Amino acid sequence: MAIIKTEHLTHLYGKGTPFEKAAIHDVNLEIEEGELVGVIGHTGSGKSTLIQHLNGLLKPTSGHIYIDDTDIFENTQILQKTRFKVGLVFQYPEYQLFEETVEKDIAFGPKNLGFTEEQINEAVSHAMECVGLSDKFRKKSPFELSGGQKRRVAIAGVIAMRPKVLILDEPTAGLDPKGRDTILNLISDYHRAEKNTVLLVSHSMEDVARYCSKVLVMNQGSVFSYGTVAETFSRADEIEQIGLSVPQVTRLFSLLSKEGFEAGEEVYTIARA
Ligand code: ADP
Repeated sequence: MAIIKTEHLTHLYGKGTPFEKAAIHDVNLEIEEGELVGVIGHTGSGKSTLIQHLNGLLKPTSGHIYIDDTDIFENTQILQKTRFKVGLVFQYPEYQLFEETVEKDIAFGPKNLGFTEEQINEAVSHAMECVGLSDKFRKKSPFELSGGQKRRVAIAGVIAMRPKVLILDEPTAGLDPKGRDTILNLISDYHRAEKNTVLLVSHSMEDVARYCSKVLVMNQGSVFSYGTVAETFSRADEIEQIGLSVPQVTRLFSLLSKEGFEAGEEVYTIARA
């Protein structure tokens, strides 16, 4: 079943002004439950605009968004529920940390959702485990942590609300290679353990090929393609024609996936070699 569906989704910024701009145009998508979807495209191709519609943060100029077959703008109650069902982690989410301890920061969302003390405690423990932070971090100030750790706290704050869909906008931006690998492995483990739907906006073809089950390529506000890693990168030459470069390792990776190798670390190692 499609957990996310969009129909003719269009968004104009500054509608009716001289600055009117169609950021996304006639986007028709169906994303099945449980996929880990990589979202790629140039800066300005509409990725952020699209994902902000999926939890109702932006209202379409025209078209519809369905989560679990329900139009999220049908009424205010559904819209409120959607905001928690679809968790959105913004770029550089650590700038939104504000509480004096890690546990208070992660508990903020569940508290607002009306979880009981016990449920809050359980949600915080679960979210910290998902992002690989041990209990010793609970009482620390988020501001004493490293950049990568702060980001993990911020991601945990969204996971703690138990979203059915987790969307992350460039979660590795600004991190060093080790920090990037840590975050991507945590997201991949979270996806495997929770069997939730995850959307990962990324600039890296390699990361998308390595970690994701499906790839959505956006171009100039429209869907260029949506399919498996193998399907997507079998069109590597077409993707390069829209100005995105597809590294050799990504092409090899997708070929191996096509030959029936299980996507994952093993295929990646072969492709790398
Ligand atoms: P991406 O996430 O792929 O970089 P965006 O969704 O941020 O793309 O942007 C798509 C288009 O919409 C771009 O042309 C961008 O300049 C424009 N845009 C984005 N946000 C705004 C805004 N708040 N006001 C006006 N135009 C915007």
